[in-house]
Amino acid sequence: MDTRRLPVGSISGPFHWPPLAAVVRLFVPQQLRRTPELFREGQRVVALHLALFVWGPVYAVVMLLLGALITTLILLVTGGLNIGSLLLLRVTKSPAVCGNVLAGVIWLSCTSMMLVTGGLHSPVLPWYACISAVALMLSSTRAGLFWAVASGGAVTGLAVATGLGFPMWNELSPPATKFVAYTGTLTLVAAVFVLTWLFRNFEIRAQQSLREANHFLKVQALTDPLTGVPNRRSFQRTLEREWKRHERIALPLSLLVLDVDFFKRFNDAAGHAAGDECLCVLIQTVQATLHRSTDFVARIGGEEFAVVLPNTGEIDAAAIAERIRLSIAAVRIAHPDSPLADHVTVSIGSGTIVPEQHDSLSDFVQSVDRALYRAKAGGRNQAVSAESAPVALG
Ligand code: GH3
Ligand code: MG
Ligand code: MG
Repeated sequence: MDTRRLPVGSISGPFHWPPLAAVVRLFVPQQLRRTPELFREGQRVVALHLALFVWGPVYAVVMLLLGALITTLILLVTGGLNIGSLLLLRVTKSPAVCGNVLAGVIWLSCTSMMLVTGGLHSPVLPWYACISAVALMLSSTRAGLFWAVASGGAVTGLAVATGLGFPMWNELSPPATKFVAYTGTLTLVAAVFVLTWLFRNFEIRAQQSLREANHFLKVQALTDPLTGVPNRRSFQRTLEREWKRHERIALPLSLLVLDVDFFKRFNDAAGHAAGDECLCVLIQTVQATLHRSTDFVARIGGEEFAVVLPNTGEIDAAAIAERIRLSIAAVRIAHPDSPLADHVTVSIGSGTIVPEQHDSLSDFVQSVDRALYRAKAGGRNQAVSAESAPVALG
């Protein structure tokens, strides 16, 4: 089964804000929009690029005003590489590749800025914390691990260089250093918030999808695909549940089993498709004949149906069985090859019990099956109660 076709719930988020959604749509290639998961990954990649596009130039202007020319240049080059990285999404159509490249661009930017802003004393140092998180969120675990090692490597390299006495250059004036430290911390706080929010969203979405998939599978497992009514498994569950409930409340439980007469001949003469349609009409007729919401209809075999009638005595059950038989006859579905009538008929076995502890459910079902067998043996097109004579003929 294609799980991507399963209903996927939606939760609110900033990507649903129309202006942002419109910009994101502009950059996410058409191919990615067909698959919800890929589209969401594309959305995240584009949104992060956009955030950097806004943040980068503003920061570059401030650095220029504070006299940090090389840092300004690095920020401008980073902006250019960002554009390249975003265009890569349209070329590769892979948010993972694009996210990985973006992490690389940030790493390059951080490392070069560290070299001109005081090495290990640089206020840029905490920015490294974001790189592997970005790769982890936008690409893969392996990418996250790679950039974590690369960030660790860059910092270790600087530590070794400092230890060996290499002079570290710092182009930042004291006010610029304060500014970078302040805004860098704010950026880090914002990044941690966004990444944690994304993780939380992932979790909620995954749980919701899992719940919906489970519900979908549960419904599938208990439904007959042709008629849309409960299947044999669902019937067994319901019957067992009702059996236990009626044992507790000491009220009568009734069961009807219906079988279409000469249905093989119907198929042979009218075709299998007409047979399928006939089964659907029959089940709708049975459902329309029942009035209580607790009455339960299921398809338990090829052309066999069961009706569970909670809190229903023997006389009422026999009357309902007869009513069903007559309503099916009244629909007058033409049977091209029945020796009984010119329309489709059914035979019905019924049984009633007030279950007690020593009673067996399977014995009860067998007694209803035997009643059905007697209805067949007695000439078909009739309803027969368990261990009793036919209640109707003709
Ligand atoms: P009887 O009166 O003794 O019940 O005879 P019958 O022909 O109805 O019973 P039998 O068990 O010999 O044949 C049942 C037929 O039901 C066989 C099969 O062709 C048909 N059938 C079973 N499932 C389906 C189905 O899903 N669709 C269709 N069209 N036919 C089905
Ligand atoms: Mg049968
Ligand atoms: Mg039959």
